[in-house]
Amino acid sequence: MPYIVNMESLNNGNLRQRKRLFISRKTGAREREKLIYLALENECNTVVFSMNDRFFKNKNAKYIKMITNHGMQIEAGGRDFSLLLPRKLFFFNSGMFRLEQGIRKLTHHFCPTNPKTIAAVSQNANDLFTAIMQNVTPPRIFHLLPDEECENKWCACPACRAFRPCEQYIIAANTVADVLAKFDSQARLGYIDYNTEPDAAGVPPRKNMFSIGTVNNC
Ligand SMILES: [Zn+2]
Repeated sequence: MPYIVNMESLNNGNLRQRKRLFISRKTGAREREKLIYLALENECNTVVFSMNDRFFKNKNAKYIKMITNHGMQIEAGGRDFSLLLPRKLFFFNSGMFRLEQGIRKLTHHFCPTNPKTIAAVSQNANDLFTAIMQNVTPPRIFHLLPDEECENKWCACPACRAFRPCEQYIIAANTVADVLAKFDSQARLGYIDYNTEPDAAGVPPRKNMFSIGTVNNC
């Protein structure tokens, strides 16, 4: 699927209900036009682009005019973990990536308890937010979702082993939420709830985070 229409809305004070269309980085311009038509037919009022999407660099495409003409709101983020820790770092810094059966893995997420990882993720989140903040519609909403159908592919290093995948995900998302709070105290970061028992979640999400949906596997 090139996109997700998210029916969840955020009922919070002055935020009007948002019905979202997520557009992935790889979606071409023609496909984007079709998706925007489809979104409008389904009464979507919000489009979500990946944090380094070309939308934020090129303002002349037809699909962007469609978004503007219909007054759609812009949000940013999605399945963006590979932007927060670029995979090119793996060659010299494999310890920042996740351990699976004794081997560091390039694919999916990273080791969220390694201080070097956290420092790099904070820096990259800072750079990504700096580049796109002005193009996101206030009150600003961002999203950080785990890789699709790999929600449990997190790290098994000695430090991470104390945390379940759902907790490792929240540790990583909290790092990004802290950076976001420095840019805009009103901004919120959407995350996926792994649907654990409330008292089983040992790592609470930050106050500027909100659940945009659930998955049932932790
Ligand atoms: Zn780890």
